[in-house]
Amino acid sequence: MKQPAVFFGHGTPTNALGGPYADEWRALGASLPRPKAILCVSAHWYVPALAVTATQAPRTIHDFYGFPPELYQIFYPAPGAPWLAERVSALTGAALDEAWGLDHGSWSVLKHVFPEADVPVIQLSIDTRADAPTHVELGRKLAVLRAEGVMIMGSGDVVHNLRAMRREGGPPFDWAQRFHDRVKSALEAHDDAFLAAPQGEDAALSIPTPEHYLPLLYVLGARGENEAPHFFTDRIDLASVSMLGVRFG
Ligand code: ZN
Repeated sequence: MKQPAVFFGHGTPTNALGGPYADEWRALGASLPRPKAILCVSAHWYVPALAVTATQAPRTIHDFYGFPPELYQIFYPAPGAPWLAERVSALTGAALDEAWGLDHGSWSVLKHVFPEADVPVIQLSIDTRADAPTHVELGRKLAVLRAEGVMIMGSGDVVHNLRAMRREGGPPFDWAQRFHDRVKSALEAHDDAFLAAPQGEDAALSIPTPEHYLPLLYVLGARGENEAPHFFTDRIDLASVSMLGVRFG
């Protein structure tokens, strides 16, 4: 069965512990056709290389500091998929990697989407040297996997400004809400030119560094021509972190 391409706004690692977004991810998971495997492009594997995880049993990486101890006790023991890593390598030229595993961009979300951890997961790195069209093109190359039972997953945040973040919560900044809404309307209008290289002050404040935005470009590339976006999470957390989640197919 053809699998969707899905972008998750993952927000703070503490979403792994539960809360409203975890509930929405669990509801999404219950509605998804069961994939043969998942290929995840996470904001948290942003390195000067194109690589794909190829181990049988990827380790759970706790790649954050200063969070509650129970977060470091979470493990997501999903199997790897060396067969899929080989396929992704053939499609994209990515190098097979034995060192990385699943970072929290993957597991903090998948823990709720597929709580049994019984769907194999691999990750593709985001190459810091690549330009925006290259990221979209990589997504396009991966699109074929959807018909082979592989869910394409991007995990980041379309608005991600930690400097402006209000830990105590509160209403979104106007610029954050405007950019969040602009991304939504661009997804609805197939405005790929805007999405590939958002311009303006709202974009600059929302994307102070590119790594949390770029996973969206892979999902954009993997999107089918006639697929409309379905938004399954649609709020801004901590005033400057968009939790927008969108599914195609
Ligand atoms: Zn993150």
